[in-house]
Amino acid sequence: MGEVYFTDSRARVMDPSEWFQPNLSLVNKLRFLIEKSGLFDFIEKNDIVAVKTHFGDRGTTKTLRSVYLRTIVKEIEKRGGRPFITETTGLGLTRDRATALGRIEIAEENGYTSQTVGAPIIIADGLLGFDFVKVPINGKNLKEIHVAKTFEHVDKIICATHFKLHMQGGIGGGIKNIGVGCVAKPSKFDLHCPNPPEINENCTECGLCVEVCPVNAIENFKINRSKCLKCTGCNEVCEYDAVTIGPWLSGADICERIVECAKGVFEVVGKENFAFINFMIDITPHCDCHPYSDNPVAPDVGIFASRDMVSVDAACLDVLKKLEANRDALTGEKKFWEWTSPEVQIEYAEKLGLGEKSYEIFTED
Ligand code: SF4
Ligand code: SF4
Repeated sequence: MGEVYFTDSRARVMDPSEWFQPNLSLVNKLRFLIEKSGLFDFIEKNDIVAVKTHFGDRGTTKTLRSVYLRTIVKEIEKRGGRPFITETTGLGLTRDRATALGRIEIAEENGYTSQTVGAPIIIADGLLGFDFVKVPINGKNLKEIHVAKTFEHVDKIICATHFKLHMQGGIGGGIKNIGVGCVAKPSKFDLHCPNPPEINENCTECGLCVEVCPVNAIENFKINRSKCLKCTGCNEVCEYDAVTIGPWLSGADICERIVECAKGVFEVVGKENFAFINFMIDITPHCDCHPYSDNPVAPDVGIFASRDMVSVDAACLDVLKKLEANRDALTGEKKFWEWTSPEVQIEYAEKLGLGEKSYEIFTED
């Protein structure tokens, strides 16, 4: 059974004369949570510690605030660790988040700089998202995972997650932050899509895709599968809808693949070298990769922390379902899990030995 530590985001003061209570700040509560739970006790002097988060896309406004990351950074440093903040590139070659340059530019626009987070920012899969280490996992869906190369060299990972809903996977929690967020482009593609890109009969042989392909995988207007890294750059630049990609997966299919990718990351870093902090605040209906942030679907809850990736997501999903059930009774709206399968992330991750879905909650008192 996993241990999950929780601190409430509420800061209710009933007596106006007692308004000045810094301890009610969620930033301070996060610090107390880390201290009291012993969550970071596994960090040793001089450990290189990656703090994995999501910087959002251009236009998002409800990603994890930099002040929480800075607090985590300081707690790592207190224990002698050497932290950095990290993310990976997205699919594509020309869109903004597809390269480390664009990824950092948008991070800065969204308030994440080395000054605000108190540590260097490093894009884990390199300039174009092709720096990876291949890990065989022989999974039901995926046989090998392309883990972002930086993680090969870290001692510990703190997974700082803005917990929200996800259009394909149901929830975006710790499992998704590791399974999607710590892999390089080829595996990002594989988890979203079962078939490799192909050039179809619409091709005019204009040559744009040949120019953009970084690994010269397009030969005689056909994609050489043994060379293709599935970045989708050819699809991005084609003006004739001549590069077929699909189908894009959702529901149980994508959930299983996300979990298999997380298994690959665990193989590289070691399951015992992770800690997870899920921030159940600003619970938006979409992932932070959307270029906007919708209104939250539920009130803020607080922060959940655990050394067990599955337990912490299971706890958040259970709370979310209770909140959604209340909302459903009030408004008659459809519950989000009627078209997604977030439970598959939890069940399959436990089946693959990545953690336990049963948990015990400990509060800060
Ligand atoms: S960019 Fe499109 S149309 Fe041009 S060569 Fe490539 S696949 Fe064909
Ligand atoms: S052929 Fe493959 S590697 Fe080349 S641009 Fe297309 S998806 Fe990327």
